Amino acid sequence: MVGLGALGTVAATQLVRAGVGYMRLIDRDIVEASNLQRQVLFDESDAALHLPKALAAAEKLRAASSGVAVEERIADLTPRNAEALLGDVDLIVDGTDNFQTRHLVNDVAVKHRIPWVYGGAVSSYGTTALLRPGKTPCLVCLFGALTPAAPETCDTVGVIAPVVGVIASLQVAEALKYLAGREDALRDGITYVDVWANQWRTVRFPPRSAQCPCCGLGRFDALAARSDALTISFCGRNTVQVRPDGEREVSFADLASRLARVGSVRLGRETLRIEVDKAQITLFRDGRALVHGVDDPAAARSLYARYIGM
Ligand SMILES: [Zn+2]
Repeated sequence: MVGLGALGTVAATQLVRAGVGYMRLIDRDIVEASNLQRQVLFDESDAALHLPKALAAAEKLRAASSGVAVEERIADLTPRNAEALLGDVDLIVDGTDNFQTRHLVNDVAVKHRIPWVYGGAVSSYGTTALLRPGKTPCLVCLFGALTPAAPETCDTVGVIAPVVGVIASLQVAEALKYLAGREDALRDGITYVDVWANQWRTVRFPPRSAQCPCCGLGRFDALAARSDALTISFCGRNTVQVRPDGEREVSFADLASRLARVGSVRLGRETLRIEVDKAQITLFRDGRALVHGVDDPAAARSLYARYIGM
């Protein structure tokens, strides 16, 4: 499961309760109070503790079904780690909220011939399809290599829980058919649902393109983009993620004692919470940080450089 947000928490719950033997949960974010309207695995205490979503979700799912092996990875999916995180599973479920990550998932899926269940929801509508390398078009066949220009994002309009429930449930239905070996029952297309406008339709897949750069010609552009030093503004959250270049392991103890002189520092579970300069920073062990209270990537990078160090 890539992403434990709205779609991911609903789909993971259904899959684990259905008894899939193993599930790896990958998420880069922490729980916040604004998530609780739709992210059904979390509660107010998770938000108060700023728990990493992968950790909070894993504990809830283990409590729901002890017979399923649930493994959490508090990580941002990047070109550097995507194959290690996804390359060895039977099926990938898309719980992400952005096309940059979906293109990485698609590259790994095509390269390692792993089916994946695309899903996206915003406002009151959503889309889903099971993409099987070699059998259906891939994400690049369907949308091209670029992020489709969305007139609305959850930044501007939010998303209501009912459409999340519908899309995630459709994702799980296809996942269960595939895992049960019932490929004859799969939907042969992309399903679009709008729970407010009462629309529901499935468009049959177009033929696969032999000229598709990804599944036709075997070029994996998202995986080949090797720059890891990135800042990303999180959807609708007034939060920017800063990711330093390269692999690094941060010593929370060293940093806590250094920063205690200039601000307030609190050690959480798998995070360090720093309040300094009227900003809040959540730092993860892999060196990533969420800088809260800013929208400007440059401002977030400069706070990171000043207090944590690039
Ligand atoms: Zn393709």
